[in-house]
Amino acid sequence: MRSSWKGFFDELALWRDLGRSVDFWWRDDDATTRTASLDRLVALAGSAQVPLALAVIPQDADADLLSGDQGAVTVLQHGVGHRNAAGPGEKKTEFAVGESAGAAAARLQWGRRRLQDLYGARSLPVLVPPWNRISQPGLVAGLAGSGYLGLSRFGPRVLATQSPGLVQVNTHVDVIDWKGSRGFVGQDAALKQAVTHLQARRFGTADTDEATGWLTHHAVHDEPTWDFLQELFQLAGARSNVVWRSATELFLR
Ligand SMILES: [Zn+2]
Repeated sequence: MRSSWKGFFDELALWRDLGRSVDFWWRDDDATTRTASLDRLVALAGSAQVPLALAVIPQDADADLLSGDQGAVTVLQHGVGHRNAAGPGEKKTEFAVGESAGAAAARLQWGRRRLQDLYGARSLPVLVPPWNRISQPGLVAGLAGSGYLGLSRFGPRVLATQSPGLVQVNTHVDVIDWKGSRGFVGQDAALKQAVTHLQARRFGTADTDEATGWLTHHAVHDEPTWDFLQELFQLAGARSNVVWRSATELFLR
């Protein structure tokens, strides 16, 4: 077996030896409408039997994004319009420092209602901020009070910053090389991110109970990305101590 997979499976085996299951979850971002890549994504989730959490942009969302038998797909809220509102010197964000928390909350409510209208019970009140970032300082603290159950960004969650009543489960592996090719980041880099988070959970330097999240963006997947995901689901699925959690399991606790 190639060395990057070996390191990954060695880590899974260490968890098994500790009597622990490895919990993963899968979030795919930037869905709006039904496309060939969206169909391919949903088909992959179905054939691999891996629950898919699809972060949908409310403002651009189509009613026919999901149709037919797509039982394992859950919809999360990917911002409202996914427009960059960052001020000078701010990193890309839809929720910029300059917007009032009240105005941002009102926009969010509109988006949440729209997803519920379009997708019904498939839609969960879980916010996935575009670019994984909320710069508006008061927004996160108010989410639970305005009906949100969860928040999902990127990187190990920090319990000290968690808001009461709001479940935070992030993603930790980004399979796209955004700063370089904007294609697949490569097997080594993807698996290394996973091993890094699993080790941090095992050592207790990250929250040990946070499921390790794989982040994909179906619209930009090249063939190596699709191949990798298929291989990951096949190989990891064959390990008895690997469990893929659905967003419902993670956020509706
Ligand atoms: Zn996005």
